[in-house]
Amino acid sequence: MKKLFGVIGDPIAHSMSPAMHNDLFELYGIHAVYLPFHVSKGNLEAAVKGLKALGVSGFNVTIPHKTEIIPHLDKVDPLARAIGAVNTVKNENGLLVGYNTDGPGFVKGLEYLAADLGSRSALIIGAGGASRAIYFAMAQSGIGKIDLYNRTDEKAKELVSSCPYEVESKVIDKETAEKSLADYQLVIQTTSIGMVPDTESLPLLPENLKQNTIVSDIIYNPLQTKFLKEAAKRGAAVQNGVGMFVFQGALAFEIWTGIFPDIERMEANVLRNLGG
Ligand code: NAP
Repeated sequence: MKKLFGVIGDPIAHSMSPAMHNDLFELYGIHAVYLPFHVSKGNLEAAVKGLKALGVSGFNVTIPHKTEIIPHLDKVDPLARAIGAVNTVKNENGLLVGYNTDGPGFVKGLEYLAADLGSRSALIIGAGGASRAIYFAMAQSGIGKIDLYNRTDEKAKELVSSCPYEVESKVIDKETAEKSLADYQLVIQTTSIGMVPDTESLPLLPENLKQNTIVSDIIYNPLQTKFLKEAAKRGAAVQNGVGMFVFQGALAFEIWTGIFPDIERMEANVLRNLGG
């Protein structure tokens, strides 16, 4: 019998995950199907129970359910528990176990760009859900210094103080962040600023970005935000949000099947979907 995988969220129609995972099942000869399931907020508990009753092998979780799903799972891995968000669930002998591959996926994507991440200092712009997953996974992976700038200062302070992994961190204001951009080897943009349709907006003035800094923007629509274009003009190495999306999917696929999949193929699949 075919194994069942899927993704639950609202909205879900434009999810790129079904095409990416179904292609991998075909590539590796796995008899399985991955489907999108539109689940509204009020139906989450019933949907999780239904998927369990159907014997689902695993599923992804996207907006707006990443936090709310936690009490409906049988077990949650410690990193996902600390982050407070689950994006991947595996059926382990009848028990639904939750993981977070967003943060570790981002870190793995970064490792493809640069070795010795541990010795680098980072600035994260933003303190929303994606930032939290990235900050915790970076801290867990041993990056020693991660400063944070967010429009709403208190959210950044709360994020830093709730991290269980040891890391040197300062919450800085916009002016300080703009002035000190050259002090960081990694600059990670996690806000929604610059996303379609607001493509001319910048989260920070980029003037002080220097050559060879790694600048990552987790937005993938557009593929190159204005912030990334400005960084590239100044000689920075740039990475867009396709990397994070592909690597979170690759780690989910590995959790479900034990196979770490072909990243280039996944990336090509996503770019086709984005029309890039
Ligand atoms: P979120 O939890 O709503 O957080 C939004 C963040 O953006 C907050 O830091 C917020 O600041 C900031 N922000 C929004 N509008 C702003 C504005 N006008 N001026 C200044 N700051 C502003 O959202 P999220 O889930 O973290 O997602 C953030 C972005 O990441 C989205 O564009 C999303 O598409 C992208 N993302 C990409 C991936 C991937 O796989 N590549 C995965 C997840 C998310 P305040 O705290 O001050 O409100």
